[in-house]
Amino acid sequence: MTALDDNIAKLAGFLERFRETGIHNRIGGQDVAGGKGVFQTTSPVDETVICDVAHGTADDIDRAANAAHDAFGAWRDLPATERRAILIRVAEGIEARAEEIALCECWDTGQAFKFMSKAALRGAENFRYFADQVVQARDGQHLKSPTLMNITTRVPIGPVGVITPWNTPFMLSTWKIAPALAAGCTVVHKPAEASPLTARLLVEIAEEAGLPPGVLNTVNGFGEEAGRALCEHPKIKAIAFVGESRTGSLITKQGADTLKRNHLELGGKNPVIVFDDADLDRALDAAIFMIYSINGERCTSSSRLLVQDTIREDFEAKLIARVNNIKVGHPLDPATEVGPLISAEHFAKVTSYFDIATQDGATVAAGGETLGDKGYFVRPTLFTQATNDMRIAQEEIFGPVLTSIPFSTEDDALRMANDTAYGLTAYVWTNDLTRALRFTDKLEAGMIWVNSENVRHLPTPFGGVKASGIGRDGGDWSFDFYMEQKHVGFATGQHKITKLGAI
Ligand code: NAD
Repeated sequence: MTALDDNIAKLAGFLERFRETGIHNRIGGQDVAGGKGVFQTTSPVDETVICDVAHGTADDIDRAANAAHDAFGAWRDLPATERRAILIRVAEGIEARAEEIALCECWDTGQAFKFMSKAALRGAENFRYFADQVVQARDGQHLKSPTLMNITTRVPIGPVGVITPWNTPFMLSTWKIAPALAAGCTVVHKPAEASPLTARLLVEIAEEAGLPPGVLNTVNGFGEEAGRALCEHPKIKAIAFVGESRTGSLITKQGADTLKRNHLELGGKNPVIVFDDADLDRALDAAIFMIYSINGERCTSSSRLLVQDTIREDFEAKLIARVNNIKVGHPLDPATEVGPLISAEHFAKVTSYFDIATQDGATVAAGGETLGDKGYFVRPTLFTQATNDMRIAQEEIFGPVLTSIPFSTEDDALRMANDTAYGLTAYVWTNDLTRALRFTDKLEAGMIWVNSENVRHLPTPFGGVKASGIGRDGGDWSFDFYMEQKHVGFATGQHKITKLGAI
C-alpha cells in the first residue's frame, strides 16, 4: 500500500460521518438545519460530491447571533485561568485530530498534504499562543493626574463575527477565533461555502474541550446571504474578515448602519525583489516556495518577481527548470507539491491569465496549461518578458502563477514594487545592508522579509496596507481589535469642581 492509498483509505473513514449526516449549522451547542435546506460541497480533486451542507439564511444568523449574545456574559466573566485552560484543551484536541483535519482539508480544498499536514498543528499553536495571553489581556495602565488616579482596563467588545475564505481555511479560522475567545468574546463563524469541513471539526473539538454552548457558533452558507446578514446584525459588534479586497469593501458598507468595527485581511500582489548581490540560490528557493506552495492560493504569495537585469537570464533559466519539475498531483500523495485549484470558477479565472499574458505581450516560459480531464489541475506557470503595467503584474491571480519583470536600478525596483493597488507583503533579497534598510523604509507593505521567505512569528503584527487591508493580527494587536479600552478616573481629593447655577 502506498502512502497515497493509505491516506485515501483513512480519508474515506473520516468522510463517512459527513456523508451520512451532512454538515449542520452549530448554534448554541445544537445541530440546526439550514433555513434554505442544503447545498453540496464537492472535491476539487475529482469533482465528486463530498456531502450536504446546511444552507444558512439571515434567520440562522439571527439565531446564532442571539446564542452568542446570550453566552457572552458568562464567558466574559469566567476567571481568566479557566478560559485559558479550555483554550489549551482546544489546542490538545486539534493536535489529537490533526490527521483527520489535514486529510479533510486536502480533499475539500485541493491543498497538498505536504503543507496541510502542518496546518492543524499551526491551528493548535494559535490556540496555545493566545491561551497564554488570556490572563494579562485585561491589564491596563495607571495614568496619574494631579487630581485623579486614572486607570485603564480592556474589556471584550461582545459577540463578534468571523468570516473566512477557502484557502487554508482551518489555519485562518483558528487565527481569528482563538484570539477572539481568549479576549472573552463569543463568536459566530461563517466559513467559506467552498470549504466547510474543517470548520465543523473545529466547533466539535472546541465543545469537546469544554467551550460552553453558544460561545462558538458556526453558520454555513453563502457570502451575499449569511455573510451579509452577519455584517448587518446589531448584536454582532465586530467582523473579522479574511478574503478578497472587493468583498472587504462590501463588508464595510454592510456594517455601516450598525457602526461595525471591521478588521480586513485582503488580497495581495506581493513583490519579491532580487538584487544581483544576493545569495541567489536561497533567493531562488524562497521565490519558488512563496508562489508555488499552497497552490499559489495564498494572500502572501510572492506573485511578482522583480529581478535585476544583470542576473535575469541566469535566474530565469534556473527558475524555469525548477518550475517544470514541480510535482503536480493528488493532494493526498505526500510527494505532491501542487494540488488542484479550489473550484471550477477559480480554475477558469486562473487559466484565463494564460491568454491574457500572451495578448499583453508576455511570454509563457513554463506551464500555461491545464492537466487531466477531472479536477482543477494546472501546471505551475511562469510568465517572463513582462512589464509591471500588464494585468498579470497588477491583478491577484491567486494560483501557482509567477510573473517575472526585470529592473535595472534600485529606484526602478522600488517604483515597480510600490506601483500596485495592494500592499500586503514584500520580500527583498540583497546582501547590502544599507540598501536593505533604505529600501524597506520606502516599501509600501504591511510585512516585509529581508533574505527570507514569509516566516510567521505570532507576536508580530500581520496585516496589509492599501487594498490589502485594515488592521493587524498577532500579539497584542489581536486583543486591540477584540477588546475595548475603558478608562476610569478616581478622585484622589477634593479638587475644585466648577459650579454652575450656584450663587
Ligand atoms: P471571498 O472574499 O470571495 O470570500 C471570503 C469569505 O467572505 C467567504 O466566507 C464568503 O462567503 C464571504 N463573503 C462573500 N461575499 C460576502 C458579503 N457580501 N458579505 C459577507 N461575507 C461575504 O474570498 P475567497 O475567494 O474565499 O478567498 C480568497 C481571497 O482571500 C484572496 O483575495 C486572498 O488574497 C484573500 N486572503 C487574504 C488573507 C490575508 O491575510 N490578507 C489571507 C487569506 C486569503
